[in-house]
Amino acid sequence: MSNTAQRANKLFVQTFGTTADDLYRAPGRVNLIGEHTDYNDGFVLPAAINFHTIIAVKQRDDDKFRAVSDAFPGKIHTWHFGHEGTTDPDDTWVKYLKGFTAAVCASGLPAKGMDLAVVSNVPLGAGLSSSAALELAFGTALNDASQLRLSPLAVAQMAQRGENQYVGCACGIMDQMISAMGEEEHALLIDCEDLDSEPVPIPESLSLIIVNSNVPRGLVDSEYNLRREQCEQVAEHFGVESLRHLDLRTLENAKEELPEVCYRRARHVLSENRRTQNAAHALEAGNIARLSELMAQSHQSMRDDFEITVPEIDKLVEIIDAVVGDRGGVRMTGGGFGGCVVALVDHDLTDAVVEAVERQYHTATGLEASVYLCSASQGASRLDEELY
Ligand code: ADP
Ligand code: MG
Repeated sequence: MSNTAQRANKLFVQTFGTTADDLYRAPGRVNLIGEHTDYNDGFVLPAAINFHTIIAVKQRDDDKFRAVSDAFPGKIHTWHFGHEGTTDPDDTWVKYLKGFTAAVCASGLPAKGMDLAVVSNVPLGAGLSSSAALELAFGTALNDASQLRLSPLAVAQMAQRGENQYVGCACGIMDQMISAMGEEEHALLIDCEDLDSEPVPIPESLSLIIVNSNVPRGLVDSEYNLRREQCEQVAEHFGVESLRHLDLRTLENAKEELPEVCYRRARHVLSENRRTQNAAHALEAGNIARLSELMAQSHQSMRDDFEITVPEIDKLVEIIDAVVGDRGGVRMTGGGFGGCVVALVDHDLTDAVVEAVERQYHTATGLEASVYLCSASQGASRLDEELY
């Protein structure tokens, strides 16, 4: 049994004085390309990563939930199915779970309560979607225990609904969907309009490296909402439901009709959709030089058109790009204003990338970066019983 799973079992026993019935696991994720496209009904290309949230659960006969997490020790959170109330400041992390049960209840499905203990090695708030990992580990467990018979995609949608309506975060579907449906050694090309998805193999020759800039993140939520509004404004201007239904040429032709900043926001989204599809083809074909080019263009577009990068992130990309050249790609990943960069690079270059970051990033920025060497991993699942 993995260390994290052992810790989840142990926390369960310490908290509830009995052993858990089952263990569930859901991964964090990294987006390879396709940023701020999900809420515009566009394309994204994330991979689930080998950092996981594990929960030990035992079903109850009543409708009560009791939850603990080792990330926020010392308090057992309690609520009843269908009586989640509204979020209050004391709820902190448990709002993600209450959001899920509230969404299940709102959809008319019945569910039984559970006792549960959460342990994770996904870094919290680092842009690797620890929140979706938490929701999906919990949602997958509840789906089984209460026999809701939801598909992995439906569990992901339920989690998104909970986060939108209960937690109050207007997130797209990407994080939940990849945590639910990731495949080992594959990224997932998701069409966020109809939620079709297609696994895309990541060539064996590539290392997946994530580097956290450790930039303190401030304006994330307000800037995120502002970008959404700007995108909606452009869609409205052209009378389309979302930017998915606008093409670059129409945008270019009507450029003068729009505030310059809105034009650039839309140009990012439209060009990013195209790059994301092209990157999926390049990965599939093992065309790393092309992938490198597309990831570089994506970064420039986020920097200049969407304006969501910060100087420290640009510096990290510059440091890694200088080592990698066309033998891999690097770009900022996630919502922006700090967070992480993702690099997909020839295995042989892994040590050189890590060394370059260690040598140059601190000197340039005064910050220490954290490096996560990852592999693409499987989506949420119950852990095999033999693991006990
Ligand atoms: P990210 O999803 O990028 O890690 P978020 O701010 O969206 O960042 O989600 C982080 C929040 O999710 C944490 O502050 C906490 O409330 C909740 N969370 C994530 N993982 C855990 C965990 N293992 N235990 C308890 N809460 C968690
Ligand atoms: Mg999150």
